[in-house]
Amino acid sequence: MNPPMRKIPVYEPDLGAREREYVLDCMDSGWISGIGKYVSRFEEAFSAFCDVSYAIATCNGTVAIDLALATLDVGPGDEVITSNLTFAATANAIRHVGAMPVFVDSEPETWNIDPNRIEEAITPATKAIVVVHLYGHPADMDPILAIAAKHGLFVIEDAAEAHGALYKKRRVGSLGHVACFSFYGNKLITTGEGGMLVTDNAGLAERARFLRGQAMHSALPYYHPEVGYNFRMTNLQAAIGVAQMERADALIARKRQVAHWYAERVNRLPGIDFSPEAMWATSTYWMNSILVRPESGLTVSGVRAQLAKAGIETRPFFYPMNTLPPYIHALAVRHYPVSERLGKQGINLPSSPRLDEATVAYVIDALQECYATAASPLPLTPSPRWLTPSSTLSVAEDKRA
Ligand SMILES: *Cc1c(COP(=O)(O)O)cnc(C)c1O
Repeated sequence: MNPPMRKIPVYEPDLGAREREYVLDCMDSGWISGIGKYVSRFEEAFSAFCDVSYAIATCNGTVAIDLALATLDVGPGDEVITSNLTFAATANAIRHVGAMPVFVDSEPETWNIDPNRIEEAITPATKAIVVVHLYGHPADMDPILAIAAKHGLFVIEDAAEAHGALYKKRRVGSLGHVACFSFYGNKLITTGEGGMLVTDNAGLAERARFLRGQAMHSALPYYHPEVGYNFRMTNLQAAIGVAQMERADALIARKRQVAHWYAERVNRLPGIDFSPEAMWATSTYWMNSILVRPESGLTVSGVRAQLAKAGIETRPFFYPMNTLPPYIHALAVRHYPVSERLGKQGINLPSSPRLDEATVAYVIDALQECYATAASPLPLTPSPRWLTPSSTLSVAEDKRA
């Protein structure tokens, strides 16, 4: 196996001529701050993409969650339920507004918040649930929405990793009261740094827009009836976003193609599982993930070291929130066997939309070579899996028809 000419990164943005053209247009026009035609065009394109009425662009995804919580008046004294396996930004945003996160374990099938464990986490102080669609796979929203309705809780989708994913043929971002996206450089749609709050509720949209811009009165310049934020996205960021939206469907289709190339190869490796896709879901496979189970005879550190030698960058899964210093108190009241296992067994493989099939094959060859040095090499037979990736992975919209 010849090592690649350059390191294969976990992610790199797919930027084209249009992105450059629109950014230069901003430069030439002088509209480089938080007002400009690209900001409104990006908001319009993104709300249409999510099947919602309103979109409010922000300077990053974390503050989109801050803004969502502030818009719903979540604050000190409130508890917010969220997934134990997520990027720290989800939990941090809850702390930013002064509320306390209450973490719920993952379900093994989708790696997302387990709907069966939510009710036991609800207390009189619970105000909202922040549902994370991890690594591009939607959470099982129907039972979550039913529990929220029963207890009068708001549902915020943290869709930062799942642009365009479908839950029962519906777009993520259109399922809760409010949803938040990130456009960081390694997200499926990028603006460098950037975020978006989307909602179908006119009142919430108006309030989010108001709080985003220092809570300034719309008719009285410099009259601020409340404490607001500056969470605006720049026209420069939005210019990249508008260009990305022009080929969002192609990017998603490409991501699903890459996942398909991985899935058919990983499924032949014993003791290793590939990213799930539930029957009701169309994942965007933001990350192409594997779980290295003990039966494989491999270790996560061993696999990562060997892939690194082959020039392949990988990432471990997130640390479960209950294991991080700011949130370690969570362990005292609840147990997290599933998310802790996922956190220990998970590896994210190169997942850029720019990957070709030969590179995916090279990564899997390198993975397969790990068995030769494993403690107890196993015969190469397929591992049983409850989920099989759909056979028509190349079309982003395939499950909508
Ligand atoms: C990326 C991400 C965010 C935050 O996005 P930034 O734009 O980096 O602030 C929030 N939640 C999840 C799950 C993410 O992956």
